[in-house]
Amino acid sequence: MNISNADTIKIRRITSELQKEHDRIRLKFKFLKFQNFIGLSILILSVTGIVISSYLWYEDLMSTLFLVLTVAFWNSILHELEHDLIHGLYFKKVKFIHNMMLFTVWFFRPLTLNPWIRTYWHYNHHQHSGQKIDIEERGVTNGEKWSFLRLLITPDLVLGFLLRLRRLKREIKQEKQNEKFSEKDSKKLKSTVLFGMLPFGIPLHLLFYFWIILKSLFYFALFSPANWSSSFFEISNPIIYIFVLPNIIRQFCLHLITSNMHYYGDIQEGNILQQTQVLNRWWTWPFQLFCFNFGSTHSIHHFVVNEPFYVRQMSMKKSHEVLKQEGIRFNDTTSFKNANHYWPK
Ligand SMILES: [Zn+2]
Ligand SMILES: [Zn+2]
Repeated sequence: MNISNADTIKIRRITSELQKEHDRIRLKFKFLKFQNFIGLSILILSVTGIVISSYLWYEDLMSTLFLVLTVAFWNSILHELEHDLIHGLYFKKVKFIHNMMLFTVWFFRPLTLNPWIRTYWHYNHHQHSGQKIDIEERGVTNGEKWSFLRLLITPDLVLGFLLRLRRLKREIKQEKQNEKFSEKDSKKLKSTVLFGMLPFGIPLHLLFYFWIILKSLFYFALFSPANWSSSFFEISNPIIYIFVLPNIIRQFCLHLITSNMHYYGDIQEGNILQQTQVLNRWWTWPFQLFCFNFGSTHSIHHFVVNEPFYVRQMSMKKSHEVLKQEGIRFNDTTSFKNANHYWPK
């Protein structure tokens, strides 16, 4: 089904209005033109924040809970930087710095997909948002019916993949037969499954499962501490508290918001008007805190792709006015009950 003329005109109008607001902000705040410098500074600031918090925790000057939450917050900024880097917004022409930045944001968010591989699926997301082949969003539970299973796999890419493997495989095969999923996509998906979570993701997930089982056994006194277990915790606790738990929390918040603000399954391919809603009710705030206000700003990104996350944030007030006026949905919770469908059942 083709996108109607009225919708095409509306998409153009919204894009141009939002772009105008971004341009106005750039004109007002001249320093925004130093985009490479700003991106690199944000990276250095976030990494410094993580290192200082880890040091304070190690010296017993910060509680474990505070460490985990602080690192989760800095990681949410690194996630936005990764997304900007994927869109080529910093050091596009200096490949070495670009790649070093990508590696750094991955190193501190090691439970995520290899960002060079994610680039492929993120472009795919922009092209096929809300379709069966939108691998990136489906990977984080977009389009699933709400259940205990969805809650469990919301923060965990590995469990989410393993527990849905058969169904996803069947659906992708069908899309291949319908010629919507190309041979190139197929090859990329295979390498994503085999190598996408290496060398960090898979070993750290396994370590986390083992750590949590052992902690629970001790907690319920089903197992008494031994020499080997205290050495295990001595080594694993810093890894879990600095690299794993903050990212589990951050991913839970981001995946909960993103998988529910994107529509799935019954929207026209390429129709940006139907791809997202703005999700910014008061109860979303604890989650937005760890995903840099994603629910409020990601819809803007679907219309204006090539702007950094902080400019999008600055344009938010006016952008929301435009989106509201043009009928983009705000806080549509019926889609939560409806496996993220756009049209009520
Ligand atoms: Zn994007
Ligand atoms: Zn999106």
